[in-house]
Amino acid sequence: MSFIGVHVSASGGVENAPLNAYALGATAFAFFTKNQRQWKAAALTDRQIALFKENNERCGYAPCQILPHDSYLINLGHPAADGLERSRAAFVDEMWRCEQLGLDRLNFHPGSTLGEIPVDDSLFRVAISINLALERTRGVCAVIENTAGQGTNLGHAFEQIAYIIDKVEDKSRVGVCIDTCHAFAAGHDISTPEGFAGFFKYFDAVVGLGYLRGIHLNDAKKKLGSRVDRHESIGKGEIGLNPFKWIVKDARFSNIPLILETPDPSAWPDEIRLLKGLAG
Ligand SMILES: [Zn+2]
Ligand SMILES: [Zn+2]
Repeated sequence: MSFIGVHVSASGGVENAPLNAYALGATAFAFFTKNQRQWKAAALTDRQIALFKENNERCGYAPCQILPHDSYLINLGHPAADGLERSRAAFVDEMWRCEQLGLDRLNFHPGSTLGEIPVDDSLFRVAISINLALERTRGVCAVIENTAGQGTNLGHAFEQIAYIIDKVEDKSRVGVCIDTCHAFAAGHDISTPEGFAGFFKYFDAVVGLGYLRGIHLNDAKKKLGSRVDRHESIGKGEIGLNPFKWIVKDARFSNIPLILETPDPSAWPDEIRLLKGLAG
């Protein structure tokens, strides 16, 4: 069974996220456990935690249907000591929030060299950052997202993600989220049957399908290999509808959250209905 949903708002409190997802007809959802554009956030209250769990139960969401995303400010491969320190502390806090909420995974972007250190050095810092966060928390898997490779961002090549995973001590608590728009922007033509099959073969060979903990379903505004991260509504962009049909019908991708991060919220109910229909 495929779990299909969208990145919903948690404004007013994390406990609202499952309700917002349910109202859209989603069987999965993503959300931020805190304001994603600020470093600091108030701790979750016992009441919020209880309500979040209660709402998930009422709406029928298990942890394997939920993929929280961390703050965009965090850079676990930061070249400078203070920036790295700050990012690591914020990441531990985000992992801890997920643990408190009873969740089992946290999706994040690997980071950036900021053009100041070699790629390998930055990737190594990401791996150490993950190890530190895993030591300080329990039960939550650190889920690395592939990126479009914009600017000095890490993670557009699965070899880089494999390099990080290789250096993570507890392999049971590290995973990957594939973003279709990012993959396409990074040069993988998943729009054709051969390209799609080849892409997942490449992922399996370099990283391993066993590490897959979620997929972001986004069409792409920009051309193949643009290295520009601009999401488009499903079927309205350069990727087209077919690959999304192939994903939701594929048994390899059942039991993980399949999450839309498409730009038009008014289209979300229709996109979810369409994908659920394609999944059959
Ligand atoms: Zn992301
Ligand atoms: Zn994404």
